[in-house]
Amino acid sequence: MPDTKLPEELEALKLTIRDIVENECIPLESEYLSHPPQEDDDTGPKGIAETVLGIVGTLPQEKWDHLERISKETGIYTLFVPEKYGGGGMGALGHVVMDEEIHRSIVQIPTSPVPMMMIDSCTPEQEEQYLIPAIDGKLNYAFCQTEPQAGSDPGGMMQTKAVKDGDDWVLTGTKMYISGAASADFLLVQAVTDDTKRQRGGITMFIVDNPSEGLSFDPIRIWITPTKSQQFYVNLDEVRVPQTKVLGEVGQGFNLGQKWLVHHDRLLRGSMATGILTRALEMAITWANERVTYGSPISDRQAIQWMLSDAYIDIMSLRALVRETAIQADEGKDVRVEASMIKYCAGEWGSRSIDKIMQIFGGLGETLDMPISHWFRLLRHARIGGGTSEIHKYVMSRALINGNVDFKG
Ligand SMILES: Cc1cc2nc3c(=O)[nH]c(=O)nc-3n(C[C@H](O)[C@H](O)[C@H](O)COP(=O)(O)OP(=O)(O)OC[C@H]3O[C@@H](n4cnc5c(N)ncnc54)[C@H](O)[C@@H]3O)c2cc1C
Repeated sequence: MPDTKLPEELEALKLTIRDIVENECIPLESEYLSHPPQEDDDTGPKGIAETVLGIVGTLPQEKWDHLERISKETGIYTLFVPEKYGGGGMGALGHVVMDEEIHRSIVQIPTSPVPMMMIDSCTPEQEEQYLIPAIDGKLNYAFCQTEPQAGSDPGGMMQTKAVKDGDDWVLTGTKMYISGAASADFLLVQAVTDDTKRQRGGITMFIVDNPSEGLSFDPIRIWITPTKSQQFYVNLDEVRVPQTKVLGEVGQGFNLGQKWLVHHDRLLRGSMATGILTRALEMAITWANERVTYGSPISDRQAIQWMLSDAYIDIMSLRALVRETAIQADEGKDVRVEASMIKYCAGEWGSRSIDKIMQIFGGLGETLDMPISHWFRLLRHARIGGGTSEIHKYVMSRALINGNVDFKG
């Protein structure tokens, strides 16, 4: 296992966040889980943050505000935002360390809903109108790539089109499964602008205000949050978007999305999984020592001991992989293949380990009053959302076959 000892300041940061999670977030879990979100519920994080956080419960708004205040006062809120925007300028390693700690509680400390895709790609006007308010948490966004015909192959199958009309672009098409779309203030929408080039220079990213004429949403019910839809069809019926709302260069919208997905989706799914599993394993050890059957605690049984060890192996291996890859990303290396490996392991190992932990808890593991069953669904989803396990294996195998990856150590 590589040496992933943290630099002193990150070790201190980790312990600070751990302390906040222990003292502020974990005590709120039972209240949070006893109130599943309802369709008309308006409290808590909005836009993509709703589902990035896996919002499966509710708190009174003043409690969210309290957590947000702590996050802002300690600088956690914008730790990963570049310093030029007043953030902590934390690189990938700091981000995954922070993210792992935050995920140890199902009540997560809110962090800035900054659209990282906009950093270094937006115009001064876009910066003023969208990016800076989003960094402050005043605006929320959603990312619109997937479509009914375009999931695993978004570049090849995308149908949403943008056609130039004077100084405007006219967008038509349907996006699907878009997290937090209806509550977002603006959408980052990918559309085909050159059918002959598609993902190689023919897909553009647009900033679409919500509301806009011709823009509508239909909810999709998903098992992670059955009481409140957090995913939506996004219907674009000749939505007019001025040229000034093109994000980055025309034709470069696919690359913009992929760059963000590598660094901020795939890497962070790894730290999400280690954070969840670490806490779940802590809970399972305590429970296994307490629960007595046939005269002794279940922790005396090898069947249970092996499940604990299996989860421990997954956590330690995945954490090492995540931190090593984050270090490489901070050194400017191309980590696309490693990020696919992390995404794969987060979903596959995450779901197999939480499954074992659920088993250790017996019926309690299935109750909705404890985080285990919610984590089960979140980690099972990690095999599908953000690119399926099969697609990430495809990315890895392509790199292997083409000799683009060094696995000899
Ligand atoms: C809860 C949730 C939230 C989401 N949030 C967003 C969001 O905010 N924004 C957004 O744009 N999208 C979002 N998505 C979409 C998500 O990224 C896609 O669902 C995912 O990429 C898979 O696409 P698909 O569902 O179309 O599956 P498909 O592409 O239809 O795949 C079906 C099956 O075929 C397999 N398969 C496909 N191609 C191959 C191949 N070449 N080789 C082997 N197997 C293959 C897949 O692995 C899968 O098992 C979300 C989805 C969910 C469920």
